[in-house]
Amino acid sequence: MNISRWINYAASYLKESGRETARIDAEVLLAHCTGRDRAALYRDGLDDLPPGQEKMFLQLLERRAGGEPVAYITGHREFMGLDFLVNPAVLIPRPETELLVEKALEILRPVPAPVAVDVGTGNGAIAVSLAVFLESAKIYATDISGAALEVARQNAVRHGVGGRVEFLEGDLLGPLPDIPGFRADLLAANLPYVPSSEILLLMKGVRDFEPRLALDGGPDGLDHYRRLIPRARRLLREGGHLLMEVGAGQGAVLRGIMGPGWKVEVFPDLAGRERLVIAKRLGVYGQNSEFRIQNPE
Ligand code: GLN
Repeated sequence: MNISRWINYAASYLKESGRETARIDAEVLLAHCTGRDRAALYRDGLDDLPPGQEKMFLQLLERRAGGEPVAYITGHREFMGLDFLVNPAVLIPRPETELLVEKALEILRPVPAPVAVDVGTGNGAIAVSLAVFLESAKIYATDISGAALEVARQNAVRHGVGGRVEFLEGDLLGPLPDIPGFRADLLAANLPYVPSSEILLLMKGVRDFEPRLALDGGPDGLDHYRRLIPRARRLLREGGHLLMEVGAGQGAVLRGIMGPGWKVEVFPDLAGRERLVIAKRLGVYGQNSEFRIQNPE
């Protein structure tokens, strides 16, 4: 059977199995099996698939029909226009997280030789993107999962920034080097923020296959951010920024948790949902006019 007929067959099979993105999934999986890109599948539509590739394609279709995310099947996911390795030890990078990276780039571009920390880096998508797009930046990236850090390290090396991203294993900011006077310009955090009840009751689709450690944020989803904020304050320089990705409805709650000494803004993603909290570290309470104007309470 030729490539074009395989795509049609696979798309209708995945659709019957309830996959909403059936056609594109079929194309991505076939491209992966044949070593072609998706455009080449159309150019070569009349070519027959060699039997080995047919067999492999059928196996991958079966996995996809069972709900496994395409990114885990192929081992790749694009983020910020860069190709990242993924495996089931890490969350699959989401397109909405590009908002956090774009804002971080905006903030850091004017800073000479900026220092940033990516807390809970997972597969390293945020840390590596920052290093790729900011040539003079030094990035520290932490994660409590050693298996995740292995993936992140490979991603840094693949993108040529292995020398400027330092990966450290441990909880939140704990593993950062204990250098007196060490201060960061920016902290980026896409910590687990899904409320536990939502994971237990509503887990479906992609999340079924992802590590719970990377998703579960406790009763209201904000437990990890609660622990991070006071530590972040000690590590950030005055005027430095803490960027936190959140889910729907969490922006206002997090703003309340921040307390005085921060100037807080909440940004929506392209779908209009609250997605990013940016908190600028102000000076000591009462001594900073910007603070008094922005936070009169
Ligand atoms: N946005 C992801 C989801 O809804 C969660 C990411 C996270 O917890 N950091 O599945």
